[in-house]
Amino acid sequence: MSEETTKPNNFIRNIINADLEVGKNDGRVHTRFPPEPNGYLHIGHAKSICLNFGLANDYNGLCNLRFDDTNPQKENEEFVKAIEEDVRWLGFDWQDRLFFSSNYFEQLFDYAVQLIKQGDAYVCDLSAEQTREYRGTLTEPGKNSPYRDRSIEENLALFKRMRAGEFADGSKLLRAKIDMASPNVNMRDPALYRIRHDVVHHQTGTEWCIYPMYDYTHCISDAIEGITHSICTLEFADHRPLYNWFLARLNTDSRPQQIEFSRLNLQYAITSKRKLTKLVEDNIVDSWDDPRMSTLSGMRRRGYPAAAIREFCERIGVTKADNSVEMEILDACIRENLNEHAPRAMAVLDPVKVVITNYPEGQTEELIAPNHPQNESMGTRIVPFTRELYIDRADFKEEANNKFKRLVKDKEVRLRNAYVIRCDEVIKDEKGKIVELLCSYDPATLGANPEGRKVKGVIHWVSVEHGIKAQVRIYDRLFNHPHPDSDKEVDDFTVHLNPQSLVTLTTSVVEKNLATVQPGTVYQFEREGYFCADSELCEAGNLVFNRTVTLRDTWAKIAK
Ligand code: ATP
Ligand code: MG
Repeated sequence: MSEETTKPNNFIRNIINADLEVGKNDGRVHTRFPPEPNGYLHIGHAKSICLNFGLANDYNGLCNLRFDDTNPQKENEEFVKAIEEDVRWLGFDWQDRLFFSSNYFEQLFDYAVQLIKQGDAYVCDLSAEQTREYRGTLTEPGKNSPYRDRSIEENLALFKRMRAGEFADGSKLLRAKIDMASPNVNMRDPALYRIRHDVVHHQTGTEWCIYPMYDYTHCISDAIEGITHSICTLEFADHRPLYNWFLARLNTDSRPQQIEFSRLNLQYAITSKRKLTKLVEDNIVDSWDDPRMSTLSGMRRRGYPAAAIREFCERIGVTKADNSVEMEILDACIRENLNEHAPRAMAVLDPVKVVITNYPEGQTEELIAPNHPQNESMGTRIVPFTRELYIDRADFKEEANNKFKRLVKDKEVRLRNAYVIRCDEVIKDEKGKIVELLCSYDPATLGANPEGRKVKGVIHWVSVEHGIKAQVRIYDRLFNHPHPDSDKEVDDFTVHLNPQSLVTLTTSVVEKNLATVQPGTVYQFEREGYFCADSELCEAGNLVFNRTVTLRDTWAKIAK
């Protein structure tokens, strides 16, 4: 355990603890979360957000939100706004430290001029294809570009003309002069600047026609902001020498340390913005916040509490080992949170009518039901009981053995929060479909079984007269393969889409208390699961509920 908190240590906290011990960075801890605004955030980003903002919280440090916006073609303001909303929703606050790499374009340009003046960068005229050829391979060294030995004066003049817009896209690059024979391909004279006309940058408009590359931009942005620990995913480990090379050559005051951890891969889900973009653009899902998406906005709309996602990120931990996390772990975090916090309600998803023949016509009894079985502070509500009720079709059988603890013809069952009823007669239509159950109730059974009566089964119900029609969207996993995008057998991950990922029920009936539901609220529909009032479609007179998660892990059973 570190001194600062009671959280378990991981290798990053160990590094920070050691740094603090020797007084590195004057005892400061300053991290950043650096998304590129080229899509919506997904559950993988949540891990990075919780880690970066979490460390800052734990060590009394700071965490910046910085948009890494060096690739204007794929970026836009919609994504910027969505990312800000998602980080805030997840429960983190960057205060006044919202930055864009594009804030530093002028400084980055000046640093590039410095590199040229030091003989550490040159303008190269090789075509994209030639540049690739000259780079060599993992097993063969590269070759020096014929433009590598241009004079400093010539390079300075050309770079300024690049900025002035005198050259076409792709005709020139500014490159670092490092080592074309380096065993690390990233060190083989990487590009610093490329030319891009005809794009409007969401922050800088048309001010620039040259854009700095990610590797060059990132380390300098970190240094400018005084970041102490620059945490990124493992694929950047091979870029670390370059990160350090730039800062050393530029002799920056601040020297952030890059630390890599393994990215989150979640089974049955996708954590790649490029592939999530495909799902949206090809209309495979409705939108970025479609409740089946592994985006934070999709999860929010589905009803996942932010606290449950934070708990999930805590539980999976931080390591350097590549791994793939089971969906059950996320589901369990959602269930645990909702079991504790979601108010209970009754909803009949697939209704069949019950008529209590010995209950007076026109009478309504206001029965009291607790909003939570354990938490009394959540209060109670009134559920109206009437002669005609709905129960779920799956809760009745004409014949069944004792394992079926629901309603059976000529047997008894308890209605949740109400009376014991007996089914006396089954009415069917001409096709044999059950349309109505004639039952009788025992007035002596409200709340408790009278002596000697063993009624084990309890089912939920809604009054026909008082219930409200609702659309219920039964969401399930979007993919039916644990690794949809790394299946070696197929190129196209969409073949693994689960055709049953959304089943829409249009005849469901919910208790009348839900008429005034606050969009975004999650209820436990007793015996059915957790359901969230859709934040976009739900309004008075039109109730739409999204299934957040089932009550139990039903997939485990199917897998067996
Ligand atoms: P994608 O592959 O989805 O485009 P990215 O890494 O390109 O992801 P960025 O916007 O650059 O997306 O990510 C911002 C931060 O989030 C980076 O620091 C990145 O390392 C981190 N991150 C992205 N995906 C994951 C993940 N699956 N697990 C953990 N961290 C992630
Ligand atoms: Mg990236």
